Amino acid sequence: MTTLGRLFAPLLLALAACAGPQAAPSQALEPSGDVGAVFESLKASPPELVAFLRAMPKGGDLHSHLSGAIYAESYIAWAAQDGVCVNRMTFFMVAPPCDVAAGVPPVAATLSDETFQFRLIDALSVRNYAIYPRSGHDQFFATFAMFDAAGDGRDADMLAEVMARAADQNIPYLELMTSPGMSSARFLASKLPWNGIGSLPELRAALPDDQLDAIVADTSAHMDTVEAGARAILDCEGAHPPACDVTVRYLAQVIRIFPPEQVFAQTLYGFRLVEGDTRFVGINFVAPEDDHVTLRDYSAQMAMVGFAAAEMPQVPIALHAGELTMGLVPPEDLRFHIREAVEIAGADRIGHGVDLMYEDDPYGLLAEMAARDVAVEINLTSNDVILGVTGDDHPFEIYRAYGVPVLLSTDDEGVSRIDLTHEYARAVETYDLTYAEVKTLSYNSLLYAFADERDALITELDARFAAFEAEVTQGR
Ligand SMILES: [Zn+2]
Repeated sequence: MTTLGRLFAPLLLALAACAGPQAAPSQALEPSGDVGAVFESLKASPPELVAFLRAMPKGGDLHSHLSGAIYAESYIAWAAQDGVCVNRMTFFMVAPPCDVAAGVPPVAATLSDETFQFRLIDALSVRNYAIYPRSGHDQFFATFAMFDAAGDGRDADMLAEVMARAADQNIPYLELMTSPGMSSARFLASKLPWNGIGSLPELRAALPDDQLDAIVADTSAHMDTVEAGARAILDCEGAHPPACDVTVRYLAQVIRIFPPEQVFAQTLYGFRLVEGDTRFVGINFVAPEDDHVTLRDYSAQMAMVGFAAAEMPQVPIALHAGELTMGLVPPEDLRFHIREAVEIAGADRIGHGVDLMYEDDPYGLLAEMAARDVAVEINLTSNDVILGVTGDDHPFEIYRAYGVPVLLSTDDEGVSRIDLTHEYARAVETYDLTYAEVKTLSYNSLLYAFADERDALITELDARFAAFEAEVTQGR
């Protein structure tokens, strides 16, 4: 961190030299005032602002899908090592055996084809999406299936990558969305009937605890292996880089575009996983909110979460809601998703919440969210790419004005070709935030985290901010 002091030392001197008669030197020399002044001066230089924000402690990333947080370059490298194949026309990665004659060679055989490699990275992310005949929305959601085969058996590498990137950005905590065991949970319900939400009690009775808990046990064993693998990759027993000290917890992500009885089975399993494995700290629902199944079943899905929460009320709930905008879906679908997530599912946090002002009685909803202390995970780049919603069209400032807590998250670093620092810089540049406001965003991302260790993490964040501000102000 001494590098940081050196980085800002000339700037502090320049600020002192520029202090004219209107400046109040006694105030400007207060440590906190100095950091605020440095911060304000950096707004004129976005690259320097990024350097400041990268070094600044950022509490956590609470909206990150693990597979989407991985950069395409990593997937390509793993695929090449593992014999995974790629369709040269569609850029889909597929498990071996490959078929060169059919245009599906091993990824390893394509590495020397520079043009193909550039296109492949574009295809596995939203990089350059504007030059392709596909919307950001379609491209974003398409990528997950395209790199899926490359992630097979690479969970430990994935975890190591995101831990290292968090440490590089002074992020002490990650709450990663992941779906281990969800396909087994769906299978439990594959022969069960769906007779509407009125029959949830019968469906619940048809999903025995011991079967759900057998999947929980498998997932716990799997996560033991994944975490041990990540720590081995990072050399935590030897060199022990800062990445080893990043606290990682998980949200069980229910994939919502399956038949309702299978979504319900996933939901119950997710809740029991949180109860049975302390590394899983909450649940979330994923897959496009504008998918026809999601739109058809949205209210039923919120009822399922509410049903499971009545049985297991101590399980924290985060839900994607309002990741929609006018034109993407019929107007009627913009009017209730956030409210039902809050009122029926009992969400503690909302992901996105972009269509807020299209909801019925939006001000009443804002008041309710503020009163219930429901936080909103804000994903500015993702909302730009997927929904085309930016700047003043985004409700970021409305949430803040009405006392709803907000925090910044990535959704996701790899697919969106960003990092959390980028999202902080984007928020500062778009909404002209002060240092105090940015610091609040950083703290919010721990205050609204689901980890049991939240208080200890906040104490850790206090210490990191004290060190950071001392470096900035002392210019050692
Ligand atoms: Zn998301």
